[in-house]
Amino acid sequence: MGKKITLIGAGIVGMATASYLRRDGHDVTVVTMHPPGEYCSFGNAGMLNPSGCTPQSMPGILWKVPGYLSDPLGPLIVRWSYFPKALPWMLRFIANSNRNQVENASRALRAIIQDTLGAYDVLVRNAGCADLIRRSPYLVAYETEESFRGDAFAWKLRRERGTVTEEVDAAGIQRLVPQLAHNYQRGVLVPDQGYVTNPERLVKALAVQFQKDGGTILQRKVLDIEVGEGGARALMTDAARMPVETLVVCGGVHSGELAATLGEKVPIEAERGYHVTYSDPALQLPMPVHVSDAKVFVTPMEMGVRIAGQAEFAGIYADPNYERADVLETHMKRMFPQVRTSDSTRWMGRRPSMPDSLPVIGPAVKHANVYYAFGHGHLGLCGGAPTGRFIADLVAGRKPPVDMAPYRVNRF
Ligand SMILES: Cc1cc2nc3c(=O)[nH]c(=O)nc-3n(C[C@H](O)[C@H](O)[C@H](O)COP(=O)(O)OP(=O)(O)OC[C@H]3O[C@@H](n4cnc5c(N)ncnc54)[C@H](O)[C@@H]3O)c2cc1C
Repeated sequence: MGKKITLIGAGIVGMATASYLRRDGHDVTVVTMHPPGEYCSFGNAGMLNPSGCTPQSMPGILWKVPGYLSDPLGPLIVRWSYFPKALPWMLRFIANSNRNQVENASRALRAIIQDTLGAYDVLVRNAGCADLIRRSPYLVAYETEESFRGDAFAWKLRRERGTVTEEVDAAGIQRLVPQLAHNYQRGVLVPDQGYVTNPERLVKALAVQFQKDGGTILQRKVLDIEVGEGGARALMTDAARMPVETLVVCGGVHSGELAATLGEKVPIEAERGYHVTYSDPALQLPMPVHVSDAKVFVTPMEMGVRIAGQAEFAGIYADPNYERADVLETHMKRMFPQVRTSDSTRWMGRRPSMPDSLPVIGPAVKHANVYYAFGHGHLGLCGGAPTGRFIADLVAGRKPPVDMAPYRVNRF
């Protein structure tokens, strides 16, 4: 018999999970403080790449950080007033850069995202929005031999986990993406990947279908979670007290605050990223392009072309610093000198990031009726639909197809 489930969060993780739970016949209510798809899941780079199985903390990261921080066009920025708060997380992040941990993390990431396209297929067909997902290769471009060689370990890991790659030279890069500047000497083409042409519309389409299928979405802010015998008993929201029977927490970057109200501490940080979307860029982009040094993705979207990237540590609540979007625009012009930048929009979003680059997916330790699904960091779009499947399996008492131990909440 279906359970009565309350789920916090209507980002991609929340809506994919709610959709899979509803497919199993549960009575599901989503509670969200933002309309579906209007928080971090609004503006990502759209990449659905099963190849993306490398953690953020890689061997040698400690020695790269000073260079990143001192480069005005670098991919990393720390607001110094926030540094003392971020430091414990950063130390844990760096501690995760040893080879053994990186090997394990990459295996665990691959296990989640290897069937991301298949996991979305079920949902987008049902929601009538299969057009949003493109199967496509993507290109990674390097300006120098040195930066190409600097990524050798990452490519080794990806290949060992089953990613097929094809190395291309400068002429090959031009053939694949003719409008890319001529300063890229080395490239890697990654076939059989995918991307979403409008990440916000994807979440909204899932939300509409979820409601058509009998699910409920309430726009409310959860202020506290009442706990008693048997686990979580009620959500205290800005509208009313809502009794809960089974609770799933998919609150993105706010999941740390929500888990803390349940007595479970998790080290989650807001890793703030930016995008600039050009509605009339005068570019024909045949596939997404990643420039590894700048750590940016440029993706063709139904709204135009989007460049996304940057990792800014300033906490959840600080105002956006759109100078970081200016940095993205500088990279865009360097990559595509012909780009028309006259009509663009800018955005900042908060990646929910864990120091070991792995999400938390699975049951709470302290409460039998609570499940967690958050902390996907740079891979929340890739991980959204697979996570929904895993949570639906766990709630139903089915064994998920992968070992869930690496994602447990009490691993820290
Ligand atoms: C610049 C950038 C580029 C990216 N590119 C990619 C990419 O190409 N591929 C990829 O896989 N990932 C990418 N990501 C990461 C991805 O976007 C995130 O991991 C993902 O969106 C997180 O989804 P989520 O559902 O966990 O969180 P969110 O989308 O942030 O949703 C959280 C939900 O929880 C709700 N909520 C939180 N607290 C409460 C509360 N107290 N009460 C009620 N509701 C609450 C919010 O209202 C919201 O609905 C990128 C991120 C950024 C910033």
